[in-house]
Amino acid sequence: MSLLTLSDIRVRYGSVEVLHGINLRVEEGEIVTILGANGAGKTTTLTTISGLRKPSGGSILFQGRPLHTIPSHEIVRLGITQSPEGRRVFGTLSVRENLDLGAFTSKDRGRSAKIRKWIFDLFPRLAEREGQLAGTLSGGEQQMLAIARALMADPKVLLLDEPSLGLAPLLVRSIFDSVRKINRQGVTVILVEQNARAALKLAARGYVLEVGKVVMEDRAENLLADASVREAYLGG
Ligand code: ATP
Repeated sequence: MSLLTLSDIRVRYGSVEVLHGINLRVEEGEIVTILGANGAGKTTTLTTISGLRKPSGGSILFQGRPLHTIPSHEIVRLGITQSPEGRRVFGTLSVRENLDLGAFTSKDRGRSAKIRKWIFDLFPRLAEREGQLAGTLSGGEQQMLAIARALMADPKVLLLDEPSLGLAPLLVRSIFDSVRKINRQGVTVILVEQNARAALKLAARGYVLEVGKVVMEDRAENLLADASVREAYLGG
């Protein structure tokens, strides 16, 4: 059994269906990337896994349990958290307060302190700025904080939506390095990225979405070598 399985997931915004039967699986410990043009349905797929959207059809199973029928805070408690596109940190709260909010599901203070220490090792910049208001951080630092906040809930699966968006190349590399380190600690990752080449180099497997459907799925090295993927997503 896979860790996470989406079967024939359909999602509507009002009367318009935007996901037309997505099938996707994630194995424990993997990094899986989802590629696709703007509007293909990548963000919607992530928000449906995290429960912020409910599907109009199909099922999502996590460790054999249905996710599509339970509220998002319970999904966090089961071990799935999302770092949203556009960072969305709380600008008028400090770095530390943002992190504490990420741990809202945790009753184990010792465990939260351990995770915070790990996060500060992973992102030393956040440790240096622990008391600073999140709104005064640079874009890259806010991205680190958004990922860190999602990690505070001690997830088994981390959903990352465009972590490199709008960042300078050096920071992009640093964020991707951090994702690798997070994964090596045993966190399974689903990564949505415009930076398809870097995402495929990091991931074990990938899915290509086109207008709400999976049109291709394969090992990442095969997608990197595929002529149609190269042309559409890797700049030829
Ligand atoms: P992007 O990279 O631009 O975020 P995406 O692949 O993540 O693209 P989604 O954001 O999931 O795509 O959007 C899928 C489809 O759903 C698009 O046609 C989009 O216009 C539509 N859509 C997304 N959010 C809403 C919404 N809140 N209300 C109505 N339609 C929406």
